[in-house]
Amino acid sequence: MIEIEKTASTAKKSRKGSWGRRPPGPKRNIRRAPSGFSKAAKSEDSAAPVSQEDTLKLVALGGLGEIGKNMCFLEYKDDIIVIDAGFKFPDEDFLGVDYIIPNTEYLEKNRDKIRGVLFTHGHMDHIGGWPYLQEKLGNPDVYGAALTRGLVLKRHEEFPHLPKVKFNLVKSGDVVKLGDYFEVEFFHVNHNIPDDMALFIKTPAGNIVHTADFKFDHSPTSGQPIDLDHLRGLGDKGVTLLMSDSTGAEREGHSISEKTIMENLDLIFQESKQMIVCGTFSSLIDRIQQIILLSEKYGRKVIFEGFSMKSNVEISKELGYIKMQKGTQITKDQVNNYPRSQITVVAAGAQGESNAALMRIANLDHRFIRLQKKDTVIFSSSAIPGNERSVQNLKDMFYRTGVKVYHYQMMDIHAGGHAQKEDLGHMIELMRPRFLMPIHGQYSMMVSHSELGQARGLTEDDVIIADNGSIIHMTNPELGNPVSKQAKWWFDKKTLPTNPVLVDGLGIGDVGNVVLRDRQVLAEDGFVVVIVVIDTKTGRVINSPDVISRGFIYLKDNKELVAQVRKKARFIVEKGTMGQINTTYIKDNLRDEIGKFLFQKTEKRPMILPVTIEV
Ligand SMILES: [Zn+2]
Ligand SMILES: [Zn+2]
Repeated sequence: MIEIEKTASTAKKSRKGSWGRRPPGPKRNIRRAPSGFSKAAKSEDSAAPVSQEDTLKLVALGGLGEIGKNMCFLEYKDDIIVIDAGFKFPDEDFLGVDYIIPNTEYLEKNRDKIRGVLFTHGHMDHIGGWPYLQEKLGNPDVYGAALTRGLVLKRHEEFPHLPKVKFNLVKSGDVVKLGDYFEVEFFHVNHNIPDDMALFIKTPAGNIVHTADFKFDHSPTSGQPIDLDHLRGLGDKGVTLLMSDSTGAEREGHSISEKTIMENLDLIFQESKQMIVCGTFSSLIDRIQQIILLSEKYGRKVIFEGFSMKSNVEISKELGYIKMQKGTQITKDQVNNYPRSQITVVAAGAQGESNAALMRIANLDHRFIRLQKKDTVIFSSSAIPGNERSVQNLKDMFYRTGVKVYHYQMMDIHAGGHAQKEDLGHMIELMRPRFLMPIHGQYSMMVSHSELGQARGLTEDDVIIADNGSIIHMTNPELGNPVSKQAKWWFDKKTLPTNPVLVDGLGIGDVGNVVLRDRQVLAEDGFVVVIVVIDTKTGRVINSPDVISRGFIYLKDNKELVAQVRKKARFIVEKGTMGQINTTYIKDNLRDEIGKFLFQKTEKRPMILPVTIEV
């Protein structure tokens, strides 16, 4: 339940179910876009047709204004359904953080209302957060198609402490009733991974279509083309709200078909006379299938490199989503059993991840796969925003080796898996929604998407540009008519917390601001440890204090400075031990004064770690 006013009668309940406090970190979710893309004024609208309790609420916890950690939920009275639970890779400010997952504080407090979690497809920005959220959300039932299930369960094996995932398998056309208020039909759309499902959700405030990540592909590598008649049929039922993928909203035209990519890749295979190394995402199952088909066509064996690459290939083979002849796949230690002209390597790490297989190959650091001058390297995936620098770096490393490099800017060898302008417009035309909500994209992409809607008859007020954590209310008093002019939406004055939850090797949420700041300091200026042995009887320092440092300056070359630090440390300690020995006080002084002193001398601010030993 989402409570807007805490009246006496609801005060008790609200303790459990109220919205969390606004996070201290990120900016307050003010209604931005004063140009009018969002309906700021509407949040004051007291003419709401029914009580707030009876509105449908929709909140995205991630995926708006960013690429990654997609997750949203719908709530009506006592029922909540959740769509996706992804993660996002952190940018360079988050040192040592592995993933960022959505903030689910509100859902955790209301976990007993969750009737199901719907996974649209098996990409990590949609399922990657699940191992960290499964228990926090009370291990609810989850729903998804076969490949999605395979990928969710495979990942689950890496978390042996977790309970079994309650996975409910669905296929296109299945209808699932969730709680008293939601009914969901799954329907097939194209993307670059098989088994991608969009959702048609009947709610008490009208019908909501969630497109998932999608594109229209009339000649896909695997699976069926999108069924336009079926989509038009859903539009005929009346769509109150269309939540649609914005990733490609700034690109003109149609996204190209996987068939075109296949033709372009074929040309590269024809020209390549030596080993081919193809860098891609391990989750681009369709691309991996294409490389296999082409390798077979040109008499090549295929080596898969990278942990996730190998396991995704295994799952997809088992489920029949990747088809491969017997004998095509070989292991890396068999690489020398065949001429180089008969080898294709498919390696993960096309985003320039430092530990990935592709990086080791580029570094000439790989035990088995050694590049030679006439080899070919294909980058068949585009850089995820934020990774451009590391991708460029990797590309340069390959160019240095002298191999022939093909990348997506040169040829269409990576179709975005996402609909572009024409196709997004087409989706709007098929669904004819009363309201449009751009999701899954940077802010600029959502605004471009909004313009596509406005070019097709929607007004500014019919388009919902929200932020993560914005609470959107929807009502439709005329239930028989999902696209009624009386249907309304507005923003709540409150927002849900969206400060990100960080995951690193230690666990979830252990990485607080303090830890992050420490990592930044350590990365920039290193640390200095000052060890002082104090005689508790006299308060004097025994021997000269020890000074150790890493990542700061090379002490052996700075003997003078080290001597000064020792002298200073002794002075600080002995000044502080007149009377009683207070180690906290002494340590604070050491930290402050040695810190200041080193800054004066070096203009660096290493982390100072004072250690006192009392004897
Ligand atoms: Zn996707
Ligand atoms: Zn996605």
